[in-house]
Amino acid sequence: MDPYKHKRALIVLTTLILASEYAVAAAPACDCSNEPLTAQQAANLTSCKVLIIGAGPGGLYSAYFLRELGSDLCLVEKKKELGGKQQATEPPKQLATPGSPPWLDPAAIGTCGLRINQAFADQRCLASRMGVSSQEADFDSLYNAKGQWHRSKQAFLGPAGKRGSAFPGLSAADPDTEDLESSMLEYAFVTGSSNVNPVTGKSPRPHPAAKCATYKRAKDYLVALYGQAGYDFLLAGASFRNDWESELDVCGYIAYYTADWQRPGTSFYPEGGFRRFHSELRKRIAAAGVRIFNSSPINCLSEITTANTAPNSTSKYAALTASGRGWRAERLILSPVPRDVLKMQGSLAAKLAQQPELNSITPVKVAVYNAYWPSRWWEKYGSRSGRNFLLVTPSDSRCLVRSEFPGVKALASVNASRPVYTDDPKCVEKWEKLHASGGIAAVRKAVVEALQSFFPQEKIPQPIAGGDAFYLPVAAWHYLKGNGTARKVTVQRVADWALAPLQGFNSRGSAKPKSSICMVGEAYYITGSGWSWGALQSAMRCLKAKFADVMSEAAKADMEFVRVGCQKGRTTAVSPDAAAELTFKGEVRQAAGVQLPRLNPATGRTLAE
Ligand SMILES: Cc1cc2nc3c(=O)[nH]c(=O)nc-3n(C[C@H](O)[C@H](O)[C@H](O)COP(=O)(O)OP(=O)(O)OC[C@H]3O[C@@H](n4cnc5c(N)ncnc54)[C@H](O)[C@@H]3O)c2cc1C
Repeated sequence: MDPYKHKRALIVLTTLILASEYAVAAAPACDCSNEPLTAQQAANLTSCKVLIIGAGPGGLYSAYFLRELGSDLCLVEKKKELGGKQQATEPPKQLATPGSPPWLDPAAIGTCGLRINQAFADQRCLASRMGVSSQEADFDSLYNAKGQWHRSKQAFLGPAGKRGSAFPGLSAADPDTEDLESSMLEYAFVTGSSNVNPVTGKSPRPHPAAKCATYKRAKDYLVALYGQAGYDFLLAGASFRNDWESELDVCGYIAYYTADWQRPGTSFYPEGGFRRFHSELRKRIAAAGVRIFNSSPINCLSEITTANTAPNSTSKYAALTASGRGWRAERLILSPVPRDVLKMQGSLAAKLAQQPELNSITPVKVAVYNAYWPSRWWEKYGSRSGRNFLLVTPSDSRCLVRSEFPGVKALASVNASRPVYTDDPKCVEKWEKLHASGGIAAVRKAVVEALQSFFPQEKIPQPIAGGDAFYLPVAAWHYLKGNGTARKVTVQRVADWALAPLQGFNSRGSAKPKSSICMVGEAYYITGSGWSWGALQSAMRCLKAKFADVMSEAAKADMEFVRVGCQKGRTTAVSPDAAAELTFKGEVRQAAGVQLPRLNPATGRTLAE
């Protein structure tokens, strides 16, 4: 059934008049100080049946699947551009030549979004349906500057390289400490993995993860498993996305890590970046007549009372900007990150702020520096031509941590790279201070010096000024705050709570289904932390649970088709392994590439196999 069919003609007309991304005329001043809003007061606000606040990936995916609502759906975004954190740095003009392929304009290296993991069949399916081509990328040219050349193995073995002198788990005979690191991480954080502690050789039952709720930080848990030396060994080897020192809920971290572990290392890079993916979604949303309001920061979320009768008084919620613009709606999808929701005022925001789940989600701050270079000086260090190149460096004072040099055609053709990518708090602070004192020029200089130290044989050129960008998202990705499990808030519970954030849980512990609000976004689906796929999961879960009555059968079937990874006849989502095998229209698998002699950046000499 399509309950909104009769409005189609109207929608077309409205589309022409209200075309997307416009600002509404200011409604009479109406802010949180007027609370509670009466239906009569609310009558002055722009009326929508469904209101989506926030047009990052979570808001855009939701709006796309609900677009049949046409002008009954409003999408309100704080910023001028839609897309949330997944914005883009554009290449400097001189790199875009007249013959450039179409995705070069605007070609982009995402500040917070480069890739779709191969396991995410649903998101790859959706990108492909938007006509967005993607290029396969795996990081087979992985240079672990803490590994082959600098890995801390010697430090743990002691200068003489004697077995067990500092870290008993490490044998002088270990060919590559990465193997040991991997098995230590797997044993600690991957549910269902082998129950043999790779350092002690013992198999405690139950597995120590069963006691995850008793640890304050992942660090305490790891020290209990491997001792301080083992912890130091792990930390020296892996400083990206390993937030072990802060107070994160250990059980929640294990849930995230287990899910992430199963994802393959290979990803697909949308040509033109996520920005192109989003602009295709936006085009379809706008064409359906959905009213899109950008540059509209909501600062007040209010409930509407029925104290006075008014036309259209079925609206239950109001969202207002500080300048007095406002919307009212019967149903709400809230997609700002928890930090931004907690900044909002108003009776509804106050109720949300009391929710233990919302307060248990904690953001992680990240520093990113993107650069475009006059040449692809790094290519000769790759193991294959045209492959992606990743330099993993220690969290020492140089603080590059992860330097990515994508080999995919779309980005390689404009010499794009992401030389700094770190969530190590010490490094984030370093970059933040440097940027605050010296701006992008100071960051650029420090990056070149750091790279020079890792590639002493190379003359590292200057990135093209004006093309580079520094970005510091304060809520880059999300975990559960320390001791969440003890407060009965788990990763699963957050995902369920998000479907009915004000309704609480029934006696069996599941979220009550009746509610007209959903929280949508990566922050509310922690097993997808750090991936916009998390936002897609939470959007589809919300729509399935709460909006089925306003979606036509065709729209529901369409969403289901995406959810199962464009696999006709499937009823359950595709497993990571099966997803890795799928190919979608427009996806370009990477050619084998010419095998190159591997060069040691420190010496410039060919590496022995
Ligand atoms: C450095 C980095 C690299 C990443 N790389 C990848 C990657 O390669 N692939 C990938 O899939 N993901 C990646 N991610 C993750 C991805 O950026 C997020 O998962 C995604 O942006 C989450 O989408 P969201 O809609 O949940 O939140 P957001 O992107 O944060 O969107 C929320 C939206 O709400 C708006 N908003 C906030 N407050 C208000 C208000 N008061 N009124 C109106 N609007 C408001 C915001 O402006 C924003 O547009 C990366 C993230 C970072 C930080």
